[in-house]
Amino acid sequence: MNAPQKTPIKQHLIDPEICIRCYTCEEMCPIDAITHDDNNVVVDAAKCNYCMDCIAPCPTGSIDNWRMVMEPYSLQDQFSWDELPEQQDLGEADTGALAEAMEDEISSLLARAHEGTGGKPAAPASADKPSINLYSRTRPAVARVQGNYRITDEGTGSDVRHIILSFGEQVFPVLEGQSVGIVPPGTKPDGRPHDIRLYSVASARDGEKRNANNLALTVKREEGGVCSNYLCDLKKGDEVQVTGPFGGTFLMPNDPSANIVMICTGTGSAPFRAFTERRRRAMPGAPGKLILYFGARTPGELPYFGPLKKVPPALMEQHLVYSRVPDSPKEYVQDRMRVNGEALSGLLTSDRTHIYICGLKGMETGVDEALADICRKHGLDWATIKPVMRASGRYHVETY
Ligand code: NAP
Repeated sequence: MNAPQKTPIKQHLIDPEICIRCYTCEEMCPIDAITHDDNNVVVDAAKCNYCMDCIAPCPTGSIDNWRMVMEPYSLQDQFSWDELPEQQDLGEADTGALAEAMEDEISSLLARAHEGTGGKPAAPASADKPSINLYSRTRPAVARVQGNYRITDEGTGSDVRHIILSFGEQVFPVLEGQSVGIVPPGTKPDGRPHDIRLYSVASARDGEKRNANNLALTVKREEGGVCSNYLCDLKKGDEVQVTGPFGGTFLMPNDPSANIVMICTGTGSAPFRAFTERRRRAMPGAPGKLILYFGARTPGELPYFGPLKKVPPALMEQHLVYSRVPDSPKEYVQDRMRVNGEALSGLLTSDRTHIYICGLKGMETGVDEALADICRKHGLDWATIKPVMRASGRYHVETY
């Protein structure tokens, strides 16, 4: 009698070359199926129940990898990897039907995973196709610092820097809204290399300076922060290892008639500087509105306060709000959105309106509640509008 045919399983794996070891997936996993050692973050095949809670929060997409296997890779196998293994040849079991079933099941699980967050995120229909994961820790791009400028007042405790990196002859294509990884030099106390940190690109696709093959980052010095202090202390001419680019959905629509509502706090303004530069350079007379809600503690702590004052109202409508100006009421971005509820509700009825939220994690709920209130007050239903916007690539959140 023949031995029963073993059925292959699809194993959830993390790409060690792309993963930046932020451990967000590990925090999100409700059943502790994700763990790490000093080398890699890995998924335990014996525990993973395909709930997909870890997929959406991963900033690089390294979490979204799958292999059909007869025997799952062990934790020890995964800890030892420098790169993902190729899909094995499963012989007779490796049928087209199985591969298709795997695709279908993963797709439906992924779609279900995104339902709770307002639908699966998608790129705007008119956005250009981004390049992603061209450089990794083992094969980084080496950039040179062209400039490092403080963009908050000297007198404040908030040291935020505009850092310009030049890529020389290396190809490093980015679109507005994408991020890059920075590899801080040196090692942790245990001798392992420091983790890579992600920063949004703050310049337009054609460079901080047009066609100069460079880009800008917005970096806040954090007390005890390994990467932020490394970056904020860089001098002109220093070399920096860069990975990425990352991000395939938080992208700017190319459609000049798109209304773009940008909501941010602090350094979450980085991608919106990129959006604004792109509009200014590529479509200065665009009929679509560019609207910015930007929160900081004080004007002196608002990154790019000076340059923002020079952006003409015809290019961008600005709402700069402050939470800690003495003798003034505390104001958050969501408070100002409520004040402008009528105009915002009008925009929400247009399928040309895109909303982007970037910055502190805490802001996400506040902004969501403000949009729900605005809709309620003006006869709309945010619970219906939000998933439609999200699925059509018109609602984007990037908060940490
Ligand atoms: P921050 O200076 O700490 O805060 C900016 C403002 O947000 C303050 O006025 C703060 O008010 C207010 N705020 C606090 N809680 C809020 C809430 N629940 N709703 C609305 N506003 C709130 O900001 P930051 O340190 O620059 O942080 C920016 C965030 O953006 C970080 O989490 C960073 O990781 C993220 N980010 C950075 C980049 C980048 O490229 N650098 C890209 C994307 C995202 P009070 O403090 O007075 O309460």
